[in-house]
Amino acid sequence: MFLSQREREKKRGEKMKRFQGKVAIVTASTQGIGFGIAQRLGLEGASVVISSRKQKNVDEAVEKLRTQGIEVIGVVCHVSNPQQRKNLIDKTVQKYGHIDVVVSNAAANPSVDNILDTQESVLDKLWDINVKTSILLLQSASPYLHKGSSVVFISSIGAYQPQASMGMYGVTKTALLGLTKALATEMAPNTRVNCVAPGFVPTHFADFITRNEDVVSNV
Ligand code: NAP
Repeated sequence: MFLSQREREKKRGEKMKRFQGKVAIVTASTQGIGFGIAQRLGLEGASVVISSRKQKNVDEAVEKLRTQGIEVIGVVCHVSNPQQRKNLIDKTVQKYGHIDVVVSNAAANPSVDNILDTQESVLDKLWDINVKTSILLLQSASPYLHKGSSVVFISSIGAYQPQASMGMYGVTKTALLGLTKALATEMAPNTRVNCVAPGFVPTHFADFITRNEDVVSNV
């Protein structure tokens, strides 16, 4: 019998259900890698809380996940906005009572300048979105993280060897590797802290790479 990819995914999720009863927050999850992670967790039984900056994107993503039988709520959350970060945690706890998984996926890459030519405002934005907000979100989430909970940062292959034209972005992703180790010690034994470092994934974010010849030649 021929099954479409979506049907195969659904069947696999139904068999596994490794996240039944778990509650997972995924930031920046209305498309791309974050959406994929939310979908996978949801198909394996988790109640997922998805979020991103735009209400329309949140609504559309919630709808897509619900049609797959996933228990999901959506909350608008620009990760740099303290009120919206608080609201993300509050809405999750109001609805589900606790948090088992936090996937910190949001990132920005606003510049292709060499590091020494990068404006201070751009440096601030990179640190803020790619590193600092992950910490601030966890500070708010940690009172609700139970024994056996899990935190996942989304880093990048560029963390290991920052690419020219994406140098400073890569450095922020290297920082996430250090943050993972530091927090794994700090949050043990109740919470595991891990990091995923994807290679190239053809998402909207990666359009930036494929659109820019300097970047393509360096990747
Ligand atoms: P993407 O497809 O462009 O998706 C970005 C998602 O983030 C969207 O849902 C977007 O929705 C949301 N978003 C953007 N800025 C946000 C912010 N400040 N606060 C909250 N949500 C925000 O990106 P992606 O390729 O999946 O990338 C996800 C992660 O994977 C990033 O950490 C990236 O560094 C990492 N990564 C990607 C690749 C790759 O090749 N794609 C490789 C290595 C690592 P709204 O527009 O509604 O906010």
